[in-house]
Amino acid sequence: MIQKIGVVGAGQMGNGIAHVAALAGYDVKVVDIDAERVSLAKGLIEANMSRQVRRTLIDESEMLAALDKIQFGTDYATFTDRDIVIEAATENESVKREVFKALAPHIHENTILATNTSSISITRLGARTDRPEKFIGLHFMNPVPVMKLVEIIRGLGTDSETYQQVRDLAISLGKTISLSEDFPAFIVNRILLPMVNEAIYTLYEGVGNVEAIDTGMKLGANHPMGPLELADFIGLDTCLAVMQVLYEGLADTKYRPCPLLVKYVEAGWLGRKTGRGFYDYAGDVPVPTR
Ligand code: NAD
Repeated sequence: MIQKIGVVGAGQMGNGIAHVAALAGYDVKVVDIDAERVSLAKGLIEANMSRQVRRTLIDESEMLAALDKIQFGTDYATFTDRDIVIEAATENESVKREVFKALAPHIHENTILATNTSSISITRLGARTDRPEKFIGLHFMNPVPVMKLVEIIRGLGTDSETYQQVRDLAISLGKTISLSEDFPAFIVNRILLPMVNEAIYTLYEGVGNVEAIDTGMKLGANHPMGPLELADFIGLDTCLAVMQVLYEGLADTKYRPCPLLVKYVEAGWLGRKTGRGFYDYAGDVPVPTR
């Protein structure tokens, strides 16, 4: 039974996973390569839980108990007692491979390895570890405390016991599961990201400006967020990485990443997390950058 959880990556997803796991009573350790991200993560989780207290979704004693259950650090040596490690590092296959390689000497033989990847092959990532049978995709949605869905993706080698344990874990976090086969970007991002990429083409080709595109999809298709607002929220580097995985993995030009998306990523305009993407977040109200 899973009781102790390790999370790799203290970015927006790693924080969210630690947040929901601690609130559900699990003992959580978060490790990131970047000490600055680690120190920011603690404050961010506190701020997000305080918002839940203000909205009376949780009470203060639950928040304090949960915060007490999360430890932060930069060293995998603290992961020796973890039942599962959930990897939520940058969406880049070589980064993820390095993470699993660095983790290997520090975890015990029964530790399950899960990845929160948005798109990369679970079978391929698992095959590079010493435990493909205990390797699985556990894809949370952003923001983790709010979104109800978790996609579970079994690699070719994932055994049934690992699947059952991870499924039980996701359910205990209050999530609904959607089981996806292991093909590029799985179910949700296979459908969602080409739509976001098409919105960026619509901007690139001058069919509409940022405001027209987002207003169009919010009021015309009843989406809670416009696709460009959503791209900024996901992170433009992650959007580009998912499109590249779709493009290369399915070898179909309909998935080619929009050159404007590439340009924004090259500029370091990655969306909300860097303060600027299709919108500028410096002021009180986001302002379109095109
Ligand atoms: P992010 O950029 O906010 O955070 C990534 C974190 O990984 C950073 O803190 C970085 O320092 C850390 N990191 C990089 N290399 C590392 C290493 N070698 N060891 C440890 N930590 C390392 O990104 P994110 O949005 O949190 O995405 C993380 C993962 O979750 C990606 O695989 C992404 O595809 C997936 N995901 C993202 C979303 C989303 O909407 N952003 C949704 C679902 C899944």
